[in-house]
Amino acid sequence: MGVLRNSACLRQWLTRVGGICLLLFVTVPAAVGQALTENRSPRVLVLYPYDERIAATTVAGEAIRARLLDATGAKIDLFSEFLDLARFPDEDYMDRMAQFLVTKYSGRSPDVVIALGEQSAKFVVTHRATLAGVAKIIVAGFNKSTALKLKMPPDVIGAFTEFNITKTAELARRLHPSARHLFVLGGSSEFDRWWLETAKADLAEFSKDYDTTYLEDLTIEEFVAQAAAFPPDSIALALTIFQDRSGRNFIPRDAIKQITATASAPIFGPYSTYIDYGSVGGNVVTFEALGESVADLTLDALHGKPITHIQAPHFDVVDARQLKRWGLSERNLPPGTFQMYRQPTFLEQYWLTALVVSAVITLQSVFIIILLFERRRRRTAEVESRHRLLEVIHLNQSATAGALSASIAHELNQPLGAIRSNAEAASIVLRSACPDLKLIEQILTDIQDDDQRAHDIISRMRGLLKKRAEIEWQEFDLSELTATAIKILKGEAVRRGIEVSSTPAREPLLVRADKVHVQQVVLNIAINAMDAMTKAGKERKLTLETRLTKDAKAELSISDSGEGIPDGKFAAIFEPFYTTKPSGTGLGLSIARTIVETYGGRIMASNGGDGGAVFRVILPLARAEAR
Ligand code: ADP
Repeated sequence: MGVLRNSACLRQWLTRVGGICLLLFVTVPAAVGQALTENRSPRVLVLYPYDERIAATTVAGEAIRARLLDATGAKIDLFSEFLDLARFPDEDYMDRMAQFLVTKYSGRSPDVVIALGEQSAKFVVTHRATLAGVAKIIVAGFNKSTALKLKMPPDVIGAFTEFNITKTAELARRLHPSARHLFVLGGSSEFDRWWLETAKADLAEFSKDYDTTYLEDLTIEEFVAQAAAFPPDSIALALTIFQDRSGRNFIPRDAIKQITATASAPIFGPYSTYIDYGSVGGNVVTFEALGESVADLTLDALHGKPITHIQAPHFDVVDARQLKRWGLSERNLPPGTFQMYRQPTFLEQYWLTALVVSAVITLQSVFIIILLFERRRRRTAEVESRHRLLEVIHLNQSATAGALSASIAHELNQPLGAIRSNAEAASIVLRSACPDLKLIEQILTDIQDDDQRAHDIISRMRGLLKKRAEIEWQEFDLSELTATAIKILKGEAVRRGIEVSSTPAREPLLVRADKVHVQQVVLNIAINAMDAMTKAGKERKLTLETRLTKDAKAELSISDSGEGIPDGKFAAIFEPFYTTKPSGTGLGLSIARTIVETYGGRIMASNGGDGGAVFRVILPLARAEAR
């Protein structure tokens, strides 16, 4: 029984087909190659047993057509005849059909005739000798034993479809290795019984490993009931059920569908047509593969090559939905098994998206790691540079202290000298006959005041030299800080003959910064200003003024009556190492700018109306929103 036999039409026709047929083709051994000698395209006639709606034959026929057109570059004449023998099985019809074909092809004898299915084969083989023409005959779609029954002459070549049920049984065993029961289902028609007997012989060895039951001579209802009661550790093999015990006829796949619907164990079958009807799958011949094999035989025949019987290739085919239904793992499938209705896995379906997404995530992760690393590096560098800055500021403080040391020493001398004079005066008073105690008390008070003055000078000096390991954030009044700076500078200003005046802002100017650093800014600018007022004969005035700007910032301006800053140098003076002094370092203003900018401020230089320089330091208020 061949794949084409899966149709009720075929079976019906087989039972009725008679012996009266017209003679179609006369076999001439040298038929093939005729086209070459006549220098024309080869002619191939495909005989279909039914009409064009029977998929089994049309799918195979289309595969033949596609392969032949492709291989010959479309230089081939292809003819198709749908014999419709299922609906017209009577002898008269076949006579008329044969006569019709004789007439139709009298001037165009085919080089090769392909008979698809048993009926077509029988039609051709029975009547070939009475029809003029030369043709190689290829039959396809049934098995060898059917061919023997047809008594095919030896030069008729077949593409046979052998159904060895053991291959399907092996597939079932691989998929369900724990199964202990085997059920084999077969119908009650003549063919069904023959198939069952063949299967029993084929499975003789295989079935030894199982508790085997052959389900035969049952009605469809009994088949359904038996299948519903299969133990779970069972595999079942469905052969054909063209007829059940009650004589009801079926298209086998429809009977299989009824049985698999409520079966309690997986059912396998050797036909691809069962796949969509509840069968898990089996070792099957597909109509496409059959057609392609027939086309290859035809091409060989057309090229004059000797051809012999072949077997159409078999494939293991399974229905992925049934694997899922029965919990059968696709890992157990033999290599090369074709899975129908397989839902691609997420990765298979969206592999490109998944690839892009994972690439993006990987890239992002790499970027994030680089950025984190970079941030860490930057933080380390910032800490490093802050420490360097603090070092530089401290060096700058030391240099300032050095520059002011002479005046500070001089300033310190005054209270010390006064203390000494007062002490001497007190001892004189004490040595008198009648010491004036009130006077002595006054002298001691003066000594205490002078001591306080000396103490203030020393503590300012200490403040000037204070070294910071880290910035100390404080809130302080910029005007008060300016007043302290003036006190430090006062001695030096007196020494240089410079008049210092200051105008503090009316309101407190609270800023947030390290006091010692801002004081250093004031000292740097003020000492520069004093340096700029060395010219003899000119009035020397240093003015410090604090005020609140219109945009609510604290501003300190330091102006002098010196020579001013040359045009075009207003920016250059803030660059490191820019100096016009013989013993200058060129670092004072550059450090001042760095400090001011560290606390969010700005520093600017210009020349005033009287020609002297004016430096303005602007700092944000500690609590700007309070204004
Ligand atoms: P240094 O005082 O060691 O030269 P600074 O950075 O403090 O370094 O000053 C850089 C230069 O800016 C000074 O050499 C001077 O030419 C100029 N400068 C600074 N302050 C004034 C000022 N008030 N008047 C004129 N020029 C000034």
